[in-house]
Amino acid sequence: MRIADATTFESTLDFAKEQDRLDPLSRFRGKFHLPTDASGKPLIYFCGNSLGLQPKQTEAYIQQELNDWANLGVEGHVDATNPWMPYHESLSAQMAKIVGAKSHEVVIMNTLTVNLHLMMVSFYRPTKKRYKIIVETDAFPSDKYAVRSQIKHHGFDPDAGLIEWKPRPGEQLCRLEDLEALMQTHGKEIALVMVGNTNYYSGQYYPIDQITTLGHEHGAKVGIDLAHGVGNIQPNLHENGPDFAVWCTYKYLNSGPGSLGGCFVHERHANNKDINRFTGWWGHNKQTRFNMRHEFDPIPGAEGWQLSNPPILSMAAIKASLAIFEEAGMDNLREKSIKLTGFLEFLIDSLKDDRISIITPRNPELRGCQLSITVREATKDFHQKLTDAGIISDWREPDVIRVAPTPLYNTFEEVFEFVTRLKRILN
Ligand SMILES: *Cc1c(COP(=O)(O)O)cnc(C)c1O
Repeated sequence: MRIADATTFESTLDFAKEQDRLDPLSRFRGKFHLPTDASGKPLIYFCGNSLGLQPKQTEAYIQQELNDWANLGVEGHVDATNPWMPYHESLSAQMAKIVGAKSHEVVIMNTLTVNLHLMMVSFYRPTKKRYKIIVETDAFPSDKYAVRSQIKHHGFDPDAGLIEWKPRPGEQLCRLEDLEALMQTHGKEIALVMVGNTNYYSGQYYPIDQITTLGHEHGAKVGIDLAHGVGNIQPNLHENGPDFAVWCTYKYLNSGPGSLGGCFVHERHANNKDINRFTGWWGHNKQTRFNMRHEFDPIPGAEGWQLSNPPILSMAAIKASLAIFEEAGMDNLREKSIKLTGFLEFLIDSLKDDRISIITPRNPELRGCQLSITVREATKDFHQKLTDAGIISDWREPDVIRVAPTPLYNTFEEVFEFVTRLKRILN
């Protein structure tokens, strides 16, 4: 038997097990702590889109910094095994590969919503004529709060200033041609196009290249929220060209609850010292940072947006996780992900149960690993039954179950098991 593609899937446990045996990434599962049920059996964890699992090596990475702190005190900034002062620099290159950027376009700092605000301070510069922001309708609430507050901060009415890119009545997904139509109608008033990728609710991937071109053609800036994209799809940020992007590292990047976020500023803005920004000492020229009487002189690139010296313990968790991504390779992960999610889709379709539908796009290129499933007339109780059956998934009102088999630690057998238990509960 060979590694299957969508045309050769089979709906049997043996087939699933064979795929796991053939999977070149199968050894990575052993690198993670898997949550278990009361009897010690691993749960089927399909919630990597919410909080990724803990790599076993994270503890040692954090312990290293605790030891250096214990033994060196303040000297650790320079003398630690991984000196703390330039600690973030060593992560930028690996993070840059994951998002398809150049190292100097990427920095790890703050958290997602904070970075979104900092980026809007720089790239949302409204005028009386051009002050509106386009977001996709099911933008994660935090993004919408942030965007509305920025509009208000500049003295405009958020109800008038926020334009939503929505699915058509009776549809679940946003169409690019509708965004084009919005830009045709409102283009001269749009200051910023700000979309998530992939959408946290539907799992839909929006084409970053086309959205960026469209925004720029109409004179708007373009920002991308990669909370659900990073470590899941390849956003190719440099080539696709948005002005900025922000993300968190605790979802697919497995860096621990509330861990630091990432930020991308496109190279075209790297050396522009005139960009309005909120500033702090960590964004200042490294040569003169400790001579604190200098005027602010931003570091070129994304690092110039840093405010504070970063929490090293959180950075250590990110370092541990990025080492795993480096070893597995984003292209390999994506290749497995397409198969794993394709297998899930195939098995759900094979149930031929008309109460179930998948709202996520059918085209693998227009989604990441997550499938958002609606179960007609299901309530939260249905989700509880899944949980009781040892499946960790995610429920969104009114009736959506989000399942995200991740290529680093989930298996074809788990996907098969999930659908078997789902079927049992439906009956
Ligand atoms: C998870 C997520 C967030 C979370 O923001 P934090 O600032 O990290 O708490 C924001 N936006 C989106 C789209 C998300 O998926």
